[in-house]
Amino acid sequence: MTLPEITRPHRATCHCGAVELEVSLVEGGLSTARRCDCSYCRRRGAIAVSAPLDGLRVIRGADKLSLYQWGTKTAKHYFCSVCGIYTHHQRRSNPNEYGVNAASLDGLNPRDLGDVKWSDGVNHPSDRPAR
Ligand SMILES: [Zn+2]
Repeated sequence: MTLPEITRPHRATCHCGAVELEVSLVEGGLSTARRCDCSYCRRRGAIAVSAPLDGLRVIRGADKLSLYQWGTKTAKHYFCSVCGIYTHHQRRSNPNEYGVNAASLDGLNPRDLGDVKWSDGVNHPSDRPAR
């Protein structure tokens, strides 16, 4: 399936507009879209795409972002404190990356991402015994 073309760098916004991000995705762009079934993501229900840490800038509303952490507190989940929309998170599986809410990207209808693959969040890579 052909992924939609949207302007780069991408602009991402929460629902109320208090928070605005500028995002450059990792190689692979929108094809990095994943859902996750860990106890948090299954409730959030968002599709995340990947950006390197230096590929994301908060243009507006840094003071409106709330941080949620749980479990090992490695991942940092950010959401708008006004409208509640998840914007991005610093990953636990790869702390050098952010996951960005695909549906918050300007010009992208998440339906156009088709069948999005699932990450195995129940059996998180960081929880598997070392070999
Ligand atoms: Zn908002």
